[in-house]
Amino acid sequence: MSDHELRVSKIRNGTVIDHVAAGQALNVLAILGIDGSEGEGVSIGMNVPSDRLGRKDVVKVEDRELSQSEVEVLSLIAPEASINIIRDYDVVEKSRVDRPDTVTGLLSCPNRNCITNDNEPIASKFGVVADGVRCAYCGDIVRDDIAAHLDVQS
Ligand SMILES: [Zn+2]
Repeated sequence: MSDHELRVSKIRNGTVIDHVAAGQALNVLAILGIDGSEGEGVSIGMNVPSDRLGRKDVVKVEDRELSQSEVEVLSLIAPEASINIIRDYDVVEKSRVDRPDTVTGLLSCPNRNCITNDNEPIASKFGVVADGVRCAYCGDIVRDDIAAHLDVQS
């Protein structure tokens, strides 16, 4: 077992989000709705040397496996991330995040006049573009602060 594998399989059960872009670990926690208030076991590595990325962040969350929609939003801020599901200290599933073409119902539009912020029952819809996401209704673009526009908090 390589040093790297040892490092990612230290938790007993949960999820290791590896290859997060350096500096994005706290945004990953925001996306997962984790602020420590519920006693979650979380460890974070920031600016860890990485062959692939130069530097990376690593987030380990105990006793939690991520939902598909959480992984979709994660992919927006950490397009190179890999998700390792850990059960009983073993990596039972390893996958790369997939950048979706669109994200529906997960983010709120920053434009107050956008129809999705009216009382109309319209789910938000964003197209994924190179540097962020673009509202399908009004064209507003969210770039760096995607975590701040999350509609769903678990
Ligand atoms: Zn909009």
